[in-house]
Amino acid sequence: MISSSFPTNNQGYCGRMAPSPTGYLHVGHVQTFKVASQRARSAQGRLLLRNDDLDRVRCRSIYVDAIVEDLTWLGLNWDGPIITQSSRIDRYRQILAVLHGKGLIFPCHRSRRDVMEAASAPHDGDESQSNDEPLYPVAFRPPIEAPLPPLHTPVTENWRLRVPEGLAVTFNDRCSGMNTKVAGIDFGDFLVWRKDDTPSYQLATVVDDIDFGISEVVRGADLIKSTFRQLLLYRALQMPSPAFFHCPLVRDSRGIRLAKRHDSLSVRALRAEGFKPDDVLNWTR
Ligand code: GLU
Repeated sequence: MISSSFPTNNQGYCGRMAPSPTGYLHVGHVQTFKVASQRARSAQGRLLLRNDDLDRVRCRSIYVDAIVEDLTWLGLNWDGPIITQSSRIDRYRQILAVLHGKGLIFPCHRSRRDVMEAASAPHDGDESQSNDEPLYPVAFRPPIEAPLPPLHTPVTENWRLRVPEGLAVTFNDRCSGMNTKVAGIDFGDFLVWRKDDTPSYQLATVVDDIDFGISEVVRGADLIKSTFRQLLLYRALQMPSPAFFHCPLVRDSRGIRLAKRHDSLSVRALRAEGFKPDDVLNWTR
């Protein structure tokens, strides 16, 4: 097994808040964004706002407006213009072509159902990762020496990154310390582009974090497994990665993750009930 850790980007501090406009912001988001804001301000750095709106089915512009209004009401300010992922598709496509040129991706004609049926569950009993994608079976990969079909625009098939099997991917999280997962065992070949011609979250977020000079990614611990995949993309692109600070998932007194309680704990519902920004920022119920 090869062990590998990754160089990190060490220029001036730049963080980001990256909500997906698929619903109203809730106290779970607020806890993460509060940490992101505090870390950026205490490093006298910058904090960007990114609109992760690539999911055409679930994203709505009313939620983008609501995110802006709620963050402003909370006093969670950001620097510069909002970055909108749906306006950057050409840039993501360029990077897809780079990965294609290096022979690091392959087209996948298997359905999600095929993969679910053939895959073993990732070797991981961690509940925070339980909605993670299944391990892509090695038997589904085309042989490494098979000629790669060209990339077309629009893309009409799924493309996956071929992960280096057995590579131990390690990073030192600034919140939880050392984390390691093994490619091909804990997670498999993952999507970089979808057959509906949209980039995957993993690809888009890495391209943005590189292009906007993000030095530290602050986000919820539910995304730790994505971090391993993203580290493989930085490696594939020969770019340094940012540092990572994954905030622990916040639960209410009944043990339910706040992120799962969109209903009663949206920022706007609490505001309508008369709560003040500080009450929401310091929410502990
Ligand atoms: N947009 C993602 C989410 O709302 C977060 C992406 C990230 O921070 O990398 O879960």
